[in-house]
This record gives sequence, C-alpha cells and structure tokens, in this order.
Amino acid sequence: MLIQRATLLDHTTVDIRVGAWIEQVAENLAAERGESVLDAGGATVLPGLHDHHVHVRSAASALDSLLVGPPEVCTKDQLAQTLSKAVPGADGWVRAVGYHDSVAGELDRAALDAARPDIPVRVQHRSGALWILNSVGLARVGMAEHPDGRLRTTDRGWAERLQRRVTNLAELSRRLTATGITGVTDATPDLDADDMVSLLVAHRRGEFRPRLGFLSPGKKILRDDHLDLDSLTAWIADQHRGGRPVAVHCVTAAQLVVTIAALRAAGSHPADRIEHAAVADDGSVAELADLGITVVTQPNFVAERGDQYLADIPGAEHAQLWRVASLLKADVAVAFSTDMPFGRGDPWAAMRAAVHRTTPGGAVLGADECVSARTALTMFLGHPDQPGRARSVEIGQPGDLCVLSVPPAAALAELDAAMVAATIVGGEVVHSAK
Ligand SMILES: [Zn+2]
Repeated sequence: MLIQRATLLDHTTVDIRVGAWIEQVAENLAAERGESVLDAGGATVLPGLHDHHVHVRSAASALDSLLVGPPEVCTKDQLAQTLSKAVPGADGWVRAVGYHDSVAGELDRAALDAARPDIPVRVQHRSGALWILNSVGLARVGMAEHPDGRLRTTDRGWAERLQRRVTNLAELSRRLTATGITGVTDATPDLDADDMVSLLVAHRRGEFRPRLGFLSPGKKILRDDHLDLDSLTAWIADQHRGGRPVAVHCVTAAQLVVTIAALRAAGSHPADRIEHAAVADDGSVAELADLGITVVTQPNFVAERGDQYLADIPGAEHAQLWRVASLLKADVAVAFSTDMPFGRGDPWAAMRAAVHRTTPGGAVLGADECVSARTALTMFLGHPDQPGRARSVEIGQPGDLCVLSVPPAAALAELDAAMVAATIVGGEVVHSAK
C-alpha cells in the first residue's frame, strides 16, 4: 500500500510504500495500479508501537473479569457487594482480578465464602502471583482441604485442573491495534509450547493481529523469600551456554541486587533484560549500565498506583521507584511496556505517566525521573528482540506503522490513543478509526 503525505517525527513529509517491509520512502510516489492509498494529510506516521512485556491470555480473560481492586473497589463492603452480584461465566466460575490488600486485608477462603458461598470464585491478586479461591472453587480444583485458599503461581498443579477458558483474543486484538500497537512480547511465566502455539495460530488466523513474541524460556520470576544467588547464577550461566539471553523479573530492591550479582558472576549476554526494575538505587543503576543490561519498565504504575506507593513505601525510597530518566542518563538501554492486564494496556497513558509522573491523587512521584514526550514515545518503538533500539520509518524496516490524525508537535503534546487514525501490520491495515 501507499501512504501519502506522511510527516515523520523529524518533521519531513514523505510518501511511504509499505508491504511486509517498508519498500520506499520518498517525496511524491505515484500509486501503482490496484494499490490501496492512504492519505495521511500531513499527519504523523510512526513505526508501530511494540508493548515489550504483556500477558496476552490473562489480558483477554481480564476483559470479562470483575475488577476487585482500587480505584473501582476500595473497601471490604464494596468487595462483598461486587462478589455477591457477580454473574458466573459459561464455565460456572466467577473470576475477579486486580485485588489489593488495601481493600480487605489478606483475603482467604473464609472471607470469600462469607460473600459468595454458592458458586466457585477465584480472585487474582494484583501482583499476578497469587489467587484466592472460595471453598466451592477449591473443591472444584480438588483442593477442598486447603487451609486458607491462597494459591501461588509457583504451587504447580492446581492451575492445570482449572478448565482453560476460551478467551476473547479478537476483542483484545481490536483494543490493542486501536492504540497503534503492532506487536507485543508475551512475558507470561511458565507459558508452555501449547500456549505459544495456540497464540501463534490465533495470530496466523487473523484473530490476533499484532505480531507476537515470547520471553520464554529464558525468563525467571524471583521471590524475596527464595532469593538464592548461587542457583540464579547457575541458571543464568546455563541459559547463556545455550545461547539464550535471560529476562529476570525484579520488583524489589533485593531482587535487583541479587540479579546484578548473579549477572556479574555468570557474565551478561547483550540481549539480557531486567523486567520492571521497580526499585533501583543509584548503585544498581550504575551496575546495570556497566553490565549492558536492557531494562523493560512500566512508568504507567506511577499513574495507576502512585498514591499507594506514597502511602506504603518510606519517603527515602520514593526516588528509587520506576526510574526512567536516571537510567537513560547512565546509558542503560530502556524500553517501556504496560504489563497488561496488571497494568492498564494503553501505551499512550504509559507515555504520559513517564512525562508527568502524576499519581491518581495528583501528586508527582519522582520528578527527577520525568522524560520528554519524544523519549517516552521512543520507548515503545524498540525492536522486539532489542527493546532499547528504536525502529524508524526507513526502507527495510518491518511494514508495521502507526498513522496518527495530527502532526508531530500536536502528537507529542497530547500523547493520546485517540489520535491513532490507522494501524498497519505487514502492509495491511488492521485498524482504521474511520
Ligand atoms: Zn508481567
């Protein structure tokens, strides 16, 4: 297809011929016979956005799950009310997501039974690593004797006994492409070959349009109560021996420190990644730069959960949360992701969060970590395999583009998903606002 009068981020206005790859970028290209033409009218054309860390199946499930965390549900009464009114899905389960302990403390089976004793209920904690089931739900997965109904991702076995739900990937795809997303990297832990194949089949059939990449298998989730430098070092060395880079999830300062020590001992691979780096002190920032590690982080959590951080985390550590500007200044390669469905899946909201760092209550968290709109946008333009290296609208780059409705200056001033006029994957329009 031919895109005419496209203004690039460098303010040059060009025509772009795009198929699987970008074939031509020049002034005044003539349409070929039968070629479809999109007139951008001087508005911005960007490389398609890539969300570098998401959970596709969970995000599709979350589309029709109840939200039982802030800001929608904030108190024990609201939780009980929401659960008691819930309508179960086709498989009989009530699924709820986004729970946070600020609502009703450490939720357990008894608390859920009090609100909903009659049908199976599963509540996913906002961290994504913990589920709480009521008694009917526990019986359904063969764990009627479980003491409190609090099940962890790492407690294998129970999840397999849950019927896998048919999730609405097409609706998720529609929502993603409407924000200009042309690719995602699925970072789900323990994704097996069947999961990957089923997602790739959905992509091939056109049910899920964005390109799909997977972090698996060189991926590790850490838990603070299981931090073991020697075993992490051995695991990293083993992955590297097999030619695989690693992606280590670090959400606490301790996890980051141990991971850095393990990478020091095992050596680093140029494509190694740290996921989140939610808390990083200055020493860790310098170490990450020295090791050449890419950080894939989520400033959207400042905009989504910032007030909770301000309340729960000591003031001295606020400057260490979800850093961006200081990582870039130290020469660490950085890319953004939304971590949907644990973060809201709007990349433009994540960009605004990186620019303003405003919490829901209006406070600013980590003003020194603010970046420019242009930098924030670039953080979603990385190559899937090299998130810290931005793609550009140039011959030979993938034919994945995001066409906006406004010129670059207005786009950077607004950073809003509503500006997305068309999304193109491999030279095919997969979303059009018209
Ligand atoms: Zn994640």
